[in-house]
Amino acid sequence: MIRFDNVTKKYQDNEIAVNQVNLNIEDGEFFVFIGPSGCGKTTTLKMINRLIPLTTGTIYINEKRISDYNIHELRFDIGYVLQQIALFPHMTIAENIAIVPELKKWDKEKIYNRTTELLEMVGLDPETYRNRKPKELSGGEQQRIGVVRALAADPSIILMDEPFSALDPISRQKLQQDISLLQKKIKKTHRLCHA
Ligand code: ADP
Ligand code: MG
Repeated sequence: MIRFDNVTKKYQDNEIAVNQVNLNIEDGEFFVFIGPSGCGKTTTLKMINRLIPLTTGTIYINEKRISDYNIHELRFDIGYVLQQIALFPHMTIAENIAIVPELKKWDKEKIYNRTTELLEMVGLDPETYRNRKPKELSGGEQQRIGVVRALAADPSIILMDEPFSALDPISRQKLQQDISLLQKKIKKTHRLCHA
């Protein structure tokens, strides 16, 4: 479903960040990049949803070049968890989770139920957390919201860039297990980065 054909990324200062990558990721596959800081993991992920342009080569999703997709169409179906936590500070937790469902015009009740379900999934009591602002959560709690926000509207691809880096080892293991179980249940194509 995701295919890289000789993909290279050169930033403006001529540094090659990603060098002639070829790979195939099947539907339902859990695919992980592992490598040291600076090896090109974030760059590779960002090229998939066109947050940054590639220099040469081609990326296909379902055998269609990503450059041939309408950008909104492409991104609507790709959940993305940033390496830096990036919740909107002026919005509540529930509103942050509901961003893509709102864009997709889900009805209120469906959004409410989905938010409840996702908060429960990551061990945050919905009634306690729903109306809080991001700054009222710990770093690890914010990161969990970042992860469930990417899952909210059931995208077919989820890109996760070191989504567990702000978590303590116990919460990290728990959320890794949750996501692994969830992935088995829903068979999404995950890409997950570890430094
Ligand atoms: P990783 O996520 O594996 O730590 P990155 O993809 O962030 O690695 O970076 C890969 C390489 O590209 C690094 O050498 C980094 O310095 C460089 N790089 C990343 N972003 C930019 C940028 N916007 N401009 C120039 N070089 C960059
Ligand atoms: Mg990175």
